[in-house]
Amino acid sequence: MTRITDSIELDFCDVLFKPKRTTLNSRREADIIREYKFKYYPQTLMSCGIMAANMATTGTIAVNNVLQKHQAITCLHKHYDFKDGENYRYITENYNNPESFHNAYTFISTGLRDDKERLFSLLADKNFKIDKLCIDIANGYIPKLIDFVKEVRDKFPDILIMVGNIVTGDMTQDLILNGADIVKVGIGPGSVCTTRKLTGVGRPQLSAILDCSDAAHGVGGLICADGGCTCAGDVAKAFGAGADFVMLGGMFAGTDEAAGELIEKTIQTNELVEENGETHLLLKKEKYKLFYGMSSQLAQEKHFGGMACYRASEGKVVEIPYKGSIDNVIQEILGGIRSTMTYIGARRLKDIPKCTTFYRVNRQLNEVFGKS
Ligand code: 5GP
Repeated sequence: MTRITDSIELDFCDVLFKPKRTTLNSRREADIIREYKFKYYPQTLMSCGIMAANMATTGTIAVNNVLQKHQAITCLHKHYDFKDGENYRYITENYNNPESFHNAYTFISTGLRDDKERLFSLLADKNFKIDKLCIDIANGYIPKLIDFVKEVRDKFPDILIMVGNIVTGDMTQDLILNGADIVKVGIGPGSVCTTRKLTGVGRPQLSAILDCSDAAHGVGGLICADGGCTCAGDVAKAFGAGADFVMLGGMFAGTDEAAGELIEKTIQTNELVEENGETHLLLKKEKYKLFYGMSSQLAQEKHFGGMACYRASEGKVVEIPYKGSIDNVIQEILGGIRSTMTYIGARRLKDIPKCTTFYRVNRQLNEVFGKS
């Protein structure tokens, strides 16, 4: 018989933090860098917990080179060909260069359809210093995924493995007990995702994080909240709900360091101007960058030579207003989180969930002057 889960399932926009008495006088006192310890990976990592998504647009070496200065992580997209000399040389020669590439803050990515032997030879290569792997598939419930996680863990006991995506506690624990250090949480919340429309499957992201983080922490694992953040406040809410890491795609898209051509468009504004005795509407040039879902038709054509006949597009293509350097974006996010920490009395990043009480709200923003 069909069953309905009656519990209320919430998204970021359904809650706000309750401000609390605090011992912090300034956001400068909020320590945004956490020391991470993992279930299997034997090393510790000092990081702010923010990750750039392993999408072809945002998972770039250029993004990595800026984010690592803020101790934020980049999951490089899986279409980098490290067997080609140039990328390989770049990673092996710069792996410990704080001014450019730094391997501590980098994951490489794979799916289940990718060349396994190639991946294993890269992970076994002592000169290739990236020891963090993101195993990413849209539906983390298929049995092949657990088998693959087990196989990778058996072969490489000392690498950091992040795997997803799922949205329930049971599957979070299964993946961790079979070798994952971090489980990636999110089905359908992404800014360019159409899974919920195409399949009707998904779970509101805040509830997914609450459930999966509790399950993960119970067995010594961690979670990464992946998708659905639209602003710094959403990132803070993800940490508040128990996420150890938060992955961002759309928020980092449209920047100089994200891949894709800059598109310039002439836009007609509502402003009237007078020129040579004639009145007309002002035309303005605006810049955009293309951002696309990794399951979109465009991604399938660009990276897989077309859409397989048994698949349908589960992603869309959008034009993101140009944002300049990603450095400004990450600084704004970190500033926002520091401010949240000051409001709720969390001195350390790790303390955010302990200090979090959410109000359930009907409306979080006053949009009388638009949605900015
Ligand atoms: P955002 O931060 O843009 O809201 O979400 C980023 C996340 O969306 C990615 O990390 C990935 O999990 C997910 N995503 C990226 N491309 C697609 C796609 O084409 N389809 C679906 N269903 N999810 C996608």
